[in-house]
Formats: sequence, structure tokens, C-alpha cells
Amino acid sequence: MVISLKDLDSHELNDWCPGCGDAGILLAVKNAIINSGVDPHKTVIVSGIGCSSKLPHFVNVNGIHTLHGRPIPFAEGVKIANPELTVLIDSGDGDTYGIGVGHFISAARRNVDIKLFVHDNGVYALTKGQASPTLPEGTKVKGIALPNINSPIDPLILAIAAGYTFVARTQSYNVKEQTDLMVKAIRHKGIALIDIMQGCPSYNEEYTSSSWFSQHLIPLDSNYDPVVHNPLDEKEVMEKKLQAIKILLEEKSDKMHTGLFFQWENPDNFEKRLMDRGLESPIQQEICNKDGKPTVDLTKVVQTLEV
Ligand code: SF4
Ligand code: MG
Repeated sequence: MVISLKDLDSHELNDWCPGCGDAGILLAVKNAIINSGVDPHKTVIVSGIGCSSKLPHFVNVNGIHTLHGRPIPFAEGVKIANPELTVLIDSGDGDTYGIGVGHFISAARRNVDIKLFVHDNGVYALTKGQASPTLPEGTKVKGIALPNINSPIDPLILAIAAGYTFVARTQSYNVKEQTDLMVKAIRHKGIALIDIMQGCPSYNEEYTSSSWFSQHLIPLDSNYDPVVHNPLDEKEVMEKKLQAIKILLEEKSDKMHTGLFFQWENPDNFEKRLMDRGLESPIQQEICNKDGKPTVDLTKVVQTLEV
């Protein structure tokens, strides 16, 4: 079964501007959930604030529309509380790499099994197109009076350096490539980033149109191998990181690659670290005995809080 544009209802399409790449990402998320075989009842999509972050409203799984820059800690909390859940994040570039960048970096240090799908259109679209951290220097878009004076960050290099264990790039009008990468990310054990270059015809038509993407984005070479085959081999991990970073450093803002850059099933994930300390996730803990009485006596805690 493949869900296509004709399957989206008018409510889903009307929530975004005509031609918005968010609709393509929505299609990919739906197809990825179906193709990966995860249980929709055990799937959660967390979003932040922005055009992108309306997405959980249109997928028939559990959803949380959170605060600006904060979907990552929400998602980590959900996954740690119940490791049986598949936890996805859909948020924007301003949300993730701007106000939320501290969470973006710190999440890599924990390697919680969550998947970030970042809708990256180079602008803060919901607030009328100000430059986001990924807009190239010298770029003039509708919402800024003069060309962008700031140099951009490269979120993929940042992610690899910080410790993300799955790092990929795709674009919003290529539903097949997105879906394939999302399925891989969902099956990956650990924190994953897919930076999705997203069409915003209203505020960044020049650099995010379908024709711009087809002229300036090329798939990684078919011989490129992003996967660390021996997860315990530190030398191989280093080599695979360096080959990805080298390609990314050599890219120009008008000639970039799509595909999977780096994948390492690092066994040192947060779930294992909790188990090593003998800690269970809240969902696994007994909270009452067979008589329905709480197993933890909170009376003393409450007494210490009394004023
Ligand atoms: Fe999409 Fe841009 Fe419109 Fe937002 S402003 S809905 S990102 S086209
Ligand atoms: Mg944006």
C-alpha cells in the first residue's frame, strides 16, 4: 500500500500553502509508518512550533504538539518512560537548529532511540520568513530586507560531531527517497537525524523549489558505504565519520548530496545505560500491589514539601 497526494484530504492540504513541501513529508511519514510495520498505537509523533509542527495532527498515531525548540526533550521523556514506543519528531530548522540547538546537541550525548525528521526550508516560515540557521550567507529571500549576513551551520556535520548515530539528508518532493530513509531510521537503534530540505514556495521559493532541488541535489555515489559494520571497532567508526564529514565539507550550498551519510548501531545507548544501573523505565515498574495499593509510600515526600 502506498499513500499518495490524492489520498490526503482537503484539511490536510489546506493547512499548508499550495505546493508546500510539508505535504510531501507528511506522505513520507505515513508511508514510512506503514512500510516499517510499527504499530500505530505504539507510535508517537512529537513536534515543536512552526508550519512543520502541524504534522502530528494529520497522522493517525499518538501526537504531541509541544513548545518552540522543545520537541527533543519531550520525545526523550516519552521514549525513556516507555521504550516499547516508536518515537518520531517532526520539527523545523528554526525550531531544531535555532532555539532548540542545545537540546539537539545534548540529545546526541544520550543516544536515546528517537528519530528527528527536520523540515529544513532555511527560514522561520510561520513568522513570515526570517533567516534560519541553515540559510546560506548572501542569500536574499522574501522575508529579509538585505541578503543574509550570517554564515549557515551544517546540521549534518554538527550531528555527526555531536554523536548522532544515523545521519541523512533528503528533500521534501522526493517521497520515495524520504520514505526509504525514514524506514531505515525507524529500524535503526539509536538517535537518528534526517535533514529534509523542504520546499517553502511562500518565503523561500528561490532555493527550495522542486526544480532547484533537481538541479542542485545529487544522490550519494552508489558505492558509498555509510554503515559501520563492526559497531565495536573504534577505528571503523572514526573512518566512517570522517568520510561523511569530508563529503559534507567539500559540498557547496548549490551542490549537495542526498542519502544516508553515516550509520552506527552504537550499543552504548541510553536504554542500556539505565539497565546497567539497575533502573527500569516507569512503564516496567510496579506502581501498585494486587490489592490496588501504591507500592511506593509518598507520605514522607509530601511531608517534606509541606510549608
Ligand atoms: Fe509551507 Fe512555507 Fe507556507 Fe509554511 S509558509 S505552510 S513552510 S509554504
Ligand atoms: Mg523553517
